[in-house]
Amino acid sequence: MELQDLAIDGYERVLRVSDADAGLTGVIAIHSTRFGPAVGGLRMRPYQTEQAALDDVLRLARGMTYKNAAADLPLGGGKAVIIGDPARDKTPARLTAFGQAIEALEGRYWTAEDMGMTPADLEIVARSTGYVAGLASGEYASGDPSPVTARGVFEAARTTLAHATGSDDLVGKRIALQGLGNVGRALAGMFAEAGATLLVTDMDQARVDEAVAALGATAIAPDAIIAAGADLFAPCAIGGILDAASIPTLKVRAICGSANNQLATPEDGSRLMARGILYAPDYVVNAGGIINAATEVLRIRDRAPFTETRLAAITEFLDRAFTRARAEGVGPEVIADRLVEEKLAAPPADAIAAK
Ligand code: NAD
Repeated sequence: MELQDLAIDGYERVLRVSDADAGLTGVIAIHSTRFGPAVGGLRMRPYQTEQAALDDVLRLARGMTYKNAAADLPLGGGKAVIIGDPARDKTPARLTAFGQAIEALEGRYWTAEDMGMTPADLEIVARSTGYVAGLASGEYASGDPSPVTARGVFEAARTTLAHATGSDDLVGKRIALQGLGNVGRALAGMFAEAGATLLVTDMDQARVDEAVAALGATAIAPDAIIAAGADLFAPCAIGGILDAASIPTLKVRAICGSANNQLATPEDGSRLMARGILYAPDYVVNAGGIINAATEVLRIRDRAPFTETRLAAITEFLDRAFTRARAEGVGPEVIADRLVEEKLAAPPADAIAAK
């Protein structure tokens, strides 16, 4: 296994990982350890070029710094990628060699599951490194993050509705929810219990049928959910759904959901603002998953109080972002980035105390 340092501006450390015997090529990017060890998942994809893999891992590592800082976690941002087709190229030799590379960083980077990886794959990575979160078993195993992610999105949706409609009361509010998977289904249950009227869709008809029967939700065709009239749209399926074509068709006052990268381009944030639709930045509202994993990285036994405090941090951050966005006349996603950048630029607390 070979490690090659790549000097990339704005990143603490970027390592090209290779192993000729195992046929492994990958990258580990540490964007920042300013607030703690860098945490972010390991992704496997058949990238066409090494440059494409590098571009992806850099963007994702930076995103993790922002997500972790917004949730006020004592964690930094990092990410890792392996180049290859997960269906064909995922050999134990490659995964253990990659684990050795993570181990060589001595805890500055912690990995977890991401696209192309399964919990069983992580178990193999963990044979050669102790810096793996999201394992199925073990003293500090944090398990499925989806219920905590759903809780975070639910509380964030209430904050979003308070800013968009003047009330966070869900009784009688119409929620259009896209994607009834691990997060979306749990979230739908919380909305229904709080008295909201649910419009739901999924590509999997059985999931829609179940939600209709169990929650009294109304089924909407997958291609009609964005234009369904509602108070709030909760995208919980895929990224890139808010773009120049879909935004003009929206009939909602606000958007808050778990899906990553909902805005196709930064201009789409401005498009939403121009239409008077309040957008809750995705990386802020879906941080419940990383809050859950943080208990594993930080070796926290009493998980509930930690989780509650950090979930509250999500809504506090969101509240500040909405208030300042309105005052400054820019989108909440712009202010969210700024709030994190201000936090990153501030002197460490111990430096202030020493003055
Ligand atoms: P999942 O795979 O369990 O569920 C996704 C659901 O969306 C599936 O039921 C699928 O059939 C449906 N779907 C896919 N494309 C669709 C489309 N075009 N229209 C309607 N439905 C569609 O995934 P999940 O774990 O629930 O995550 C949902 C989203 O939230 C993803 O974007 C994920 O990256 C993000 N997220 C999840 C977590 C977590 O803790 N699981 C944390 C942060 C972010």
